[in-house]
Amino acid sequence: MKTILSLCLVASLFFAISAFAEEPGYTDTPLIPGSTWRVHDKDRPQPKIVNPGTGDLGVTPPTDAIVLFDGTNLDRWSRTDGRPIEGGITNGAFDIMQTGQLRTKQEFGDLQLHIEWRTPEIKEGFDRMNQGNSGVFLMGLFEVQIIESKASYIYADGNAGALYGLYPPLVNPAREPLEWQSFDLFFTAPRFEGGTLKSPALVTVLYNGVLVQNHQPILGTTQHRDVPGPYPVVEKGPLVLQNHNSPVEFRNIWIRPL
Ligand code: MG
Repeated sequence: MKTILSLCLVASLFFAISAFAEEPGYTDTPLIPGSTWRVHDKDRPQPKIVNPGTGDLGVTPPTDAIVLFDGTNLDRWSRTDGRPIEGGITNGAFDIMQTGQLRTKQEFGDLQLHIEWRTPEIKEGFDRMNQGNSGVFLMGLFEVQIIESKASYIYADGNAGALYGLYPPLVNPAREPLEWQSFDLFFTAPRFEGGTLKSPALVTVLYNGVLVQNHQPILGTTQHRDVPGPYPVVEKGPLVLQNHNSPVEFRNIWIRPL
């Protein structure tokens, strides 16, 4: 009896430890259309870590850019829930958890975007799946993920620079929490003919100056634990910054509609 009890104890300890050490992700989600990987596949390899160079931060806007945030005000933004923005700007940056989820007042199709962001410090007992979670939603539909990725706590297609739930970044050039990071993003909006999709949206992403999405066609709208959703018949939409209840900060945001 004693032996059986000890065996049970050893077995449950083993399972507890292996569950803790397990890669995050799922085995019961649908396959991504045209891919052998599931959405948020637990077994999908994590992107290779590379150390980014410098020079991607503090890039001043060219003269034809629309400055969406220069550190002083959020006049070009509104909250997606329609409530007024109250505060959130400190030292030339804003905290998305304080401002609430934001969208640009203006809508955009094809664009070039520069945006800088940083994830908060890691505290004891932090939520692995929500550490520094935010995101840039192009046209309000397609998420380029923001999350703490230096330690890659999430499934491959959930890392920063991923097209969330679809394509992991080609490599992982993340910086440490509290260090500023950047996206330079080039987006081609979908095209429709007579209400039918003629060509899908395409995205190229430089993350901290490193190419992580290369002219990537986007299968559909971003979903969690599900295949991408169908394209709505729209050719423009707002830029949305996700509030995922994590204090992610933003600064130096400018856009060039193309
Ligand atoms: Mg996100």
